[in-house]
Amino acid sequence: MSIIADNAKRILDDIRQVSLRAGRSEDAVSLVAATKMNSPERIQEAIGAGIKICGENRVQELTDKLSQDAFHGADVHFIGHLQRNKVKYVTGRCGLIQSVDSVTLMELISKRAVSMGTVQDILIEINVGGEESKSGIEPAKADELIAQAANYPGIAVKGLMCIPPYEDDRQILCNYFRLMRNLFIDIEAKKYDNVNMRILSMGMSGDYAQAIAEGATMVRVGSAIFGMRHYDK
Ligand SMILES: *Cc1c(COP(=O)(O)O)cnc(C)c1O
Repeated sequence: MSIIADNAKRILDDIRQVSLRAGRSEDAVSLVAATKMNSPERIQEAIGAGIKICGENRVQELTDKLSQDAFHGADVHFIGHLQRNKVKYVTGRCGLIQSVDSVTLMELISKRAVSMGTVQDILIEINVGGEESKSGIEPAKADELIAQAANYPGIAVKGLMCIPPYEDDRQILCNYFRLMRNLFIDIEAKKYDNVNMRILSMGMSGDYAQAIAEGATMVRVGSAIFGMRHYDK
């Protein structure tokens, strides 16, 4: 078996074990393989090993790979920062856009989806650490944004996503995950129109076990499946 297939199987199995240990069902958490900078051949090795969802974070790379049918056999999610002028390349082509953080994006995605005769599932990205450099909406403003989903028939809000600050201290990291979990529960309880909190997307290669313990329903794992990315190429 290839290293990629081996890694994918091991992580899928580990996610089941971690979920059970956290008192959750073994299929409570779905895995998104973060496929950026990996070739269609490498992506197919992962899909062959049981990966059902891929995640791409750049529009050009997504478009190129879609034209090569790189994700054949799996769904693909958009997980990166989405510029307004690129909405048309992503809407209707991804099962889920995980990175919506403004009413403008909601409106543009909705318009595009309606024109295509579809409804686009989205997550709201939360800037859980309040970092200047990161996209996502501040936790305190999430409510106000999500309440507006009712105005946009071409989108359906399915949950929340975050990329917490880089943090060595596991306790601090868990606090971020817990803040997300609480926000997720609070928003679901408000029963906004057009909002169904089903997906809490958090946790990556280094911290998915902590994220699952704190309530993630979806984790996004790249390097633990595909190895280190080489940004100089
Ligand atoms: C690359 C990426 C991941 C996965 O990161 P790893 O540390 O390689 O597991 C998760 N989420 C997003 C948005 C990414 O761009």
